[in-house]
Amino acid sequence: MGRRLSRLRRLRVGRANNLLVRAIAEDSGPMVDWLVAHGFHADPPRPDAREDEAFMCDFGRGQEKFQRLYDDYLVPGGARVMTETRALELRQDERGAVIGVEAQRQDGTRVHVACGAVVVAAGGFSGSSALLRRLCHSDSFYDRGLTTQCSGEGVLMCERAGAQLGPEIMPHMQEYLANPVCNFTDNLIKYLSYAGFLTVNREGKRFMNECLNVEDAMGSGCASLRVQGGAYYYLISQDQVDAIRERGVGGYFDGRLGDYLSKSVASRALVPIPNLQESLDEAVARGQAWRGESAEELAALVGFPDPAVFVATLARYNELCHRGVDEDFGKISPLMNEHAMPLYAIRSVIPIMGTLGGVRVNERLEALGRDGAPIPGLYVAGQEGSGFYTYPYYSTRCITTTYAYCSGRIAGKNAAGYATSR
Ligand SMILES: Cc1cc2nc3c(=O)[nH]c(=O)nc-3n(C[C@H](O)[C@H](O)[C@H](O)COP(=O)(O)OP(=O)(O)OC[C@H]3O[C@@H](n4cnc5c(N)ncnc54)[C@H](O)[C@@H]3O)c2cc1C
Repeated sequence: MGRRLSRLRRLRVGRANNLLVRAIAEDSGPMVDWLVAHGFHADPPRPDAREDEAFMCDFGRGQEKFQRLYDDYLVPGGARVMTETRALELRQDERGAVIGVEAQRQDGTRVHVACGAVVVAAGGFSGSSALLRRLCHSDSFYDRGLTTQCSGEGVLMCERAGAQLGPEIMPHMQEYLANPVCNFTDNLIKYLSYAGFLTVNREGKRFMNECLNVEDAMGSGCASLRVQGGAYYYLISQDQVDAIRERGVGGYFDGRLGDYLSKSVASRALVPIPNLQESLDEAVARGQAWRGESAEELAALVGFPDPAVFVATLARYNELCHRGVDEDFGKISPLMNEHAMPLYAIRSVIPIMGTLGGVRVNERLEALGRDGAPIPGLYVAGQEGSGFYTYPYYSTRCITTTYAYCSGRIAGKNAAGYATSR
């Protein structure tokens, strides 16, 4: 518990609800024991694990573990699961206490659920462009399609019931290259981000230390990309393509970076990407990547507003690589690789896995009203709640599932206590 708590504390000093962080850290051990007792498979961290790895991970796969929870726990406990039914509104009594949920089945039938307490855990709002624009100030992200069902009804229901939102609400970004036209996930172009090659914005200007996409990929790496409006261009030379096809990103850096890449999340990208050329050719054919024999030609093909800006950017970058010192953004020298011709520019949009934060909760996972007092009978768990996550996100293994499981468990316990005490 001590290591987990110190890691979590350091990540969130001053911006998280530290009472909530502490409650989650304290519950995480008992939560894992409980999950293992109910059929989950979790490996404890190695004694020599780095602090950011010192979290227990759930390695159980598929539906089996949930089926077991359903059979052994929910059914004997008298629970009823309603699938294909969307919660739309919370019901409240005259003093504002939450006493039920209005829902709708897929066939349009309305459902009224009367209950002593409600735990909202609808996963955030990445499926709603309107909410992304309102709460994250932009919807120009690539949704990997896994969270479109999380369209913000939970947040909206709670707001209508008088809940306040927390100050830290953010897209849950991923470091991979992604593109709305070409599927960079299937063809593994997505892993190129771990090579940390030159990245330029819509103007053709370099804007970041690309090493952040390797060592703090989901945190400051994604945040640096987001600042530019979410879309950017990733540069890779033909010789780099050829090397990565055969040896993967790890092989390309072999010898120069030691185990630097393999110790970061980039270890995912150590495998060769044999179909990289075909994937790039397809991206070129579909107008999402461009290949130039010179910087001038590439700038014109991409359509940078002032081609000279890109030409100067590339010349400056290659000069810094040649000198081995990144005076402009401080990238470590082993990642400073000159880009020769022919050169590709690949258009990428930041992918999101969902959103983090929403309704403000206390450490009991009670939703707080606009006056700061808990709304009786209303609890919020998982990505829908604010107070745990702070921007930018951080690369710590299994932290979001940890929060989902622990916050759900704490919310459930407190909701049950509240409902039975009424
Ligand atoms: C591609 C991907 C990779 C990930 N990798 C990791 C990882 O490696 N480690 C990690 O810790 N976390 C990872 N996560 C994040 C982790 O899966 C989430 O943090 C976690 O599932 C969030 O749990 P939740 O209960 O808050 O939301 P969800 O798991 O999204 O559950 C919310 C549920 O509510 C349902 N719902 C939405 N609206 C309504 C409504 N109105 N009425 C009824 N139901 C509704 C949704 O259909 C959904 O089933 C990943 C997520 C994705 C998408």
